[in-house]
Amino acid sequence: MKIVAIANQKGGVGKTTTAVNLCACLAELGKNVLLIDLDPQANATTAIGITPDSEVNLYRPLVDDTPVEDEIRETHIKGFYILPAALQLAGVEVTLAQRGNHHSRLREVLEPLRDLQQIDYVIIDSPPSLGVLMTSALATADDLLVPVQCEFFGIQALAGIYQEVLASMQAAELTHARLEGIVLTMYDGRTRLARSVIEEVRTHFPNETYKTIIPRTVRLGEAPSHAKTIIEYDPAGVGAFAYRALADEFIQRRREYRVT
Ligand code: ADP
Ligand code: MG
Repeated sequence: MKIVAIANQKGGVGKTTTAVNLCACLAELGKNVLLIDLDPQANATTAIGITPDSEVNLYRPLVDDTPVEDEIRETHIKGFYILPAALQLAGVEVTLAQRGNHHSRLREVLEPLRDLQQIDYVIIDSPPSLGVLMTSALATADDLLVPVQCEFFGIQALAGIYQEVLASMQAAELTHARLEGIVLTMYDGRTRLARSVIEEVRTHFPNETYKTIIPRTVRLGEAPSHAKTIIEYDPAGVGAFAYRALADEFIQRRREYRVT
């Protein structure tokens, strides 16, 4: 079982869209996936049709030491499980910072999940900030997957998470995560800028950059408001095609590196 954090301190780059649709496509390929919604805004939770509530969410195991397994819920998609977020998670940053174990706490809490044989991948959707929750995700993950918008500030955000956050956490031995992948998102083929961003990212990160590029499409933006993943909402569209290709590549890359 691998824990993959989807992270980027910049908001609106496609973290949640990628987390939800990658999980759906991995489940479609017969994998069992657990999506951990680490964003207090609970966008991923809502997108999969679950109302964030104060009863079942990640806050309780993090702060009240309840068993993490109790907080896992099934979604309407076979093989796709979720650990929902709730607004209370916003308070976790303060509580954990006070306790002084904020970097290791999430890892500690999620550790029992590694024994759940039936889960192939745990995917963490991180909040758009450089706060405790985001660094906790990196401290917990085996792999870091960074969605990068095909726009000018996309590269800056990538440099930030890679050079500042990941490198300094690695140096302090706060994480063993590696930058496994970069996914270019919201690609608009009509702009020259988008193409030059792709070129630049691929030049700097030839091995890390996924071949699959996620196009900008209205349907991907609409799907969450119907509580559907893109393969349900627009199964024959370019968004579904792209996320299916991404899931294939995600699995294929792990085969090549001989990691599961
Ligand atoms: P993040 O989690 O990084 O903040 P989201 O995945 O929530 O980003 O995406 C930000 C907004 O853009 C959302 O409204 C989402 O529905 C929309 N969106 C995400 N990816 C695409 C895409 N490829 N094409 C069009 N809209 C997208
Ligand atoms: Mg998000």
